[in-house]
Amino acid sequence: TLPIVAIVGRPNVGKSTLFNRIAGERIAIVEDKPGITRDRIFSRGDWSGREFHLIDTGGLEFGQADEVTDHIRQQAELAIEEADVIVFAVDGREGITATDEEVSRLLHRSKKPVVLAVNKLDHVKHYDEMYEFYQLGFEAVIPLSSLHGTGTGDLLDQVIAHF
Ligand code: GDP
Ligand code: MG
Repeated sequence: TLPIVAIVGRPNVGKSTLFNRIAGERIAIVEDKPGITRDRIFSRGDWSGREFHLIDTGGLEFGQADEVTDHIRQQAELAIEEADVIVFAVDGREGITATDEEVSRLLHRSKKPVVLAVNKLDHVKHYDEMYEFYQLGFEAVIPLSSLHGTGTGDLLDQVIAHF
């Protein structure tokens, strides 16, 4: 069986855009409105000859308790359980939010290998924005733009190093 890579993070940070970029197909729905990915979406990916399963999740959001967010959170937590490697996506332009910190705690507790994807850094001149994310306590911090596809190779190098 192939290793499982799950993309998690709060809504609207670009998880589905990154998923589509890695899967090489437009499977996930990308929306400006947060929380559009209602269920887990699976695909296959490969990098440097290493194949894996990829899971996109709806996004972890805390502090709300309606049924939809509970369901989305459950799906994301299930994905974390199943995953061999987790790609934790954040928005590099917004900086660290309270929800990012809560997701971080959940991921540290899971003891799974995590690669932190600092997304939406569309230009190299914005790469300095990535440094504050080291505060979240993950070793691998990768600046990238899922929109342009830059940095995704470096991200996948870090991911497959854990297989
Ligand atoms: P999700 O909710 O985490 O799955 O986020 P989506 O993939 O649906 O993206 C949310 C919004 O962020 C959409 O408008 C995307 O086009 C935008 N977005 C995603 N990745 C990037 C990126 O690398 N750069 C920029 N500028 N926008 C991005
Ligand atoms: Mg999504």
